[in-house]
Amino acid sequence: MSRTFIRCKTLFTGLEDEARCEQTLVVENGLFTWVGDTADAPARAVGDALVEAGDDFVMPGLIDVHTHLVFGNAKSEEDIDLHVSPEFRALRGLFFTQHVMAAGYTSVVVPGDAGQCSIAVRNAINAGMFPGPRIAASSNVIANRQSLNDWFPSWVGTPEYFTGRLCATREDQIAEIRRQAKDGVDVIKIAMDGTHRRDNGEIIAAFTEEETRVMVDEIHRLGKKVAVHAYGAEAVLYAAKAGVDVIFHAFFLDDACIEAMLVSGSHLAPTLTMLANNVEFAELYEASTKSGYAAMQRRVIDIGCRNLRCAREAGVPFMTGSDSGFAITPYGEWHARELEIFVDWLGFTPAEALRAATSVAARMMPAAGRAGVIEVGRPADFLFIDGSPLENVALLQERERIRAVFQGGQRMQTAVPGYDPNRVSDFNTVKWSELHTRQRAVELGKRPASPGSLHLAN
Ligand SMILES: [Zn+2]
Repeated sequence: MSRTFIRCKTLFTGLEDEARCEQTLVVENGLFTWVGDTADAPARAVGDALVEAGDDFVMPGLIDVHTHLVFGNAKSEEDIDLHVSPEFRALRGLFFTQHVMAAGYTSVVVPGDAGQCSIAVRNAINAGMFPGPRIAASSNVIANRQSLNDWFPSWVGTPEYFTGRLCATREDQIAEIRRQAKDGVDVIKIAMDGTHRRDNGEIIAAFTEEETRVMVDEIHRLGKKVAVHAYGAEAVLYAAKAGVDVIFHAFFLDDACIEAMLVSGSHLAPTLTMLANNVEFAELYEASTKSGYAAMQRRVIDIGCRNLRCAREAGVPFMTGSDSGFAITPYGEWHARELEIFVDWLGFTPAEALRAATSVAARMMPAAGRAGVIEVGRPADFLFIDGSPLENVALLQERERIRAVFQGGQRMQTAVPGYDPNRVSDFNTVKWSELHTRQRAVELGKRPASPGSLHLAN
């Protein structure tokens, strides 16, 4: 079997603070079989290939632990659940894996979708039918009455094809976990936050501490990982005490939550990219509306970053996720923004942010095919970057800086096809986002302010 030698002037393995100089990687059957100083590298045989990284920075392929591969850049929950068939969602997800991969992301965790959509995409890629990132697949988000993902009123319920699966009894919760394990998920997501609050403003968890523990124990017994959505301190605490693998968001965590995470080893993936994008885009939009959404998201960011910095300083391990798959976070566009946010808002060094996006995030991927570190025995997923992310982590967002993406030692196609958003998602029938009152028309300058005049402005 022929080997591929990759000669690197600058190599970041995913584990250290500094880059190494003058390194050689040897890849055989998709795995690294040798990593070390070029001076000590084994001799090349006839038929072995040589790839020169030149001045490019070589690093592991990036990992996003929060990419909704089958949401199709949706503008609303209805856009996902009501307007698109599961079959189309899977095909669309397969298409968008190319956009994810071209952004330098060679592994993604898909936390929650309907039925077997991400399982099917993963299986098609793993079977070699299509190129694409490594996928930790999931199925429906386990929801309870009034939790996140129990979007629709009780008279609609949660049909089979919805993203959430209403599991309102302990029997239903365990049965759903076993169904998903049988269908072949890698990760099971639980919607821990409720949508209701106490009088003091605290978010009420949707499951009790006991229910959470029983579910997490069963998921782990079946050899699967657990991810939870939790903003509220109560939900974070129950999840951390139960030992979930990754807690998304955790913006309102407190000292007890940090303590519990340190004991159980739970990871934290704040997924601040979505909020950052919400603020930026809502601010633009709010020039013409009164929603107040940007200000609300800005408050959550301020409180969240204060709390998350405490968790980081206490030693809670962080992973990067972007919540890609919504209209505010289209595939392939914003995944690496999370690293910049870790540095700018949470006080990470660039090397720590890079580890959060490689070696640490890799812990959420199935053990077979767990990349994220350039070391012997790991899958050979790596990138050539023009410039050093150890100096400026933001450059990972510049597509032209991603010079090459390798997966299992193979160079992947990074020229991705475009698409018409109106035929891919955006099928909802909402036509208006606010009331077009006469007063509003005046505010927008479409009508004169003087009450006596009825002439419309152009
Ligand atoms: Zn999400």
